[in-house]
Amino acid sequence: MWYFDCPHVVFGEEALSHLAQLSGRLAFIVADQNMVRLGLVQRVTEPLAAAGIAHVIFAETEPEPSLQLVQRCAAELAQHQPDWIVALGGGSCIDAAKAAWLLYENPGVDLAGVNPFDRYVMREKAHLIAIPTTSGTGSEATWYAVLTDTADQRKVGVGSRQMLPDLIILDPELIVSLPPLITADTGLDALTQAIESHSSTWHNDFSDALCIHAVKLICEYLPRAYADGTDREAREHMHNAATIAGVGFGNSQATLAHAMGHALGALFHIPHGRSVALFLPYTMEFTANNGSDRYVDIAQGLGLPTRDGREGGINLITTIRELEAKLHQPQSVRELGINYEDYTSALPELVAKAEMDTQIVTSPRIPDSSELRRLFEYAYEGRSIDF
Ligand code: NAD
Repeated sequence: MWYFDCPHVVFGEEALSHLAQLSGRLAFIVADQNMVRLGLVQRVTEPLAAAGIAHVIFAETEPEPSLQLVQRCAAELAQHQPDWIVALGGGSCIDAAKAAWLLYENPGVDLAGVNPFDRYVMREKAHLIAIPTTSGTGSEATWYAVLTDTADQRKVGVGSRQMLPDLIILDPELIVSLPPLITADTGLDALTQAIESHSSTWHNDFSDALCIHAVKLICEYLPRAYADGTDREAREHMHNAATIAGVGFGNSQATLAHAMGHALGALFHIPHGRSVALFLPYTMEFTANNGSDRYVDIAQGLGLPTRDGREGGINLITTIRELEAKLHQPQSVRELGINYEDYTSALPELVAKAEMDTQIVTSPRIPDSSELRRLFEYAYEGRSIDF
């Protein structure tokens, strides 16, 4: 038996105006300073006011939010007692809001111990609306949050099926201000999720369909959105693609590139999308070398030659590398500017963190410790994977 979960989605031009149709008392908006500065918070408060819903703004979210930040946010939720929580921002704001929501509904729960097998009380105090302002993480469509344990320099996954947002609003107008570099980082995050969730051992008919279409949309529209942020057609399709990939990912799992990217991001403070996407071609090659045919459907969806699994995989990897080059993204760890000595001495910890990451278990080919170390080494040099 398997389940498919997806929040209600409102998308397209003027999608934000849907907020004016809600009923409620008080909305607690989880955002960051950029959301305030760019006037995006105001775009949300106006339709809320039209609906007669008061608001409180929590704009302290930092990128890759910490457990401490979430505790502070939850304390404010307890103080204000909202009946709506509105997560406005990239994956960082949405993850912070999801985890703080769980604490608001279940005071005293140990976030690091939250897991999909226990049940939590949710929706007795508030419902959650996710309004992404990056087109990348798909956090709006998943039931987990990635937080940072600053003491241990590690990412903590907080996952409970009840943490799925109730409503997603995808308004392309919110993305126009996204700078090219963040457009590339986050867009490649969506691509990595779609490809990994399609090859994950938890993939299924529902997630496969979503992931294949998401890859097509991303390959077509991400270069346009990167080249011209005001290209509204490209922005809209990319925004939809990220959530489609997120629904696929939320109902399957990511795999090895995510495990390696989480480890690198936690130790060297590389943005999430950039670090997972960097490892994607290497981990795909490692998987394809083992005879996996999981890349064929995606390659065919893109119209690439695919006489057999290996050819499909290799052509897809080449397409990804070309896309990364078009977006001026680093293709090796060296190009990220990480010093060789620092990286080499961090290798044991990188391997240990990646091995502990929950995303590794769903990989179609799971490396042992020495293979994992070599994958990290090859990715530093930009070498093709030959094992
Ligand atoms: P982010 O939320 O950290 O935002 C990056 C930067 O972009 C921030 O400074 C933000 O203020 C700015 N920004 C966001 N929207 C903007 C806009 N429209 N215009 C201008 N600036 C804007 O980046 P992200 O990649 O969206 O999220 C990364 C986080 O999401 C990481 O913590 C990662 O671990 C997590 N994540 C979660 C999931 C999940 O399923 N829960 C999946 C993948 C990643």
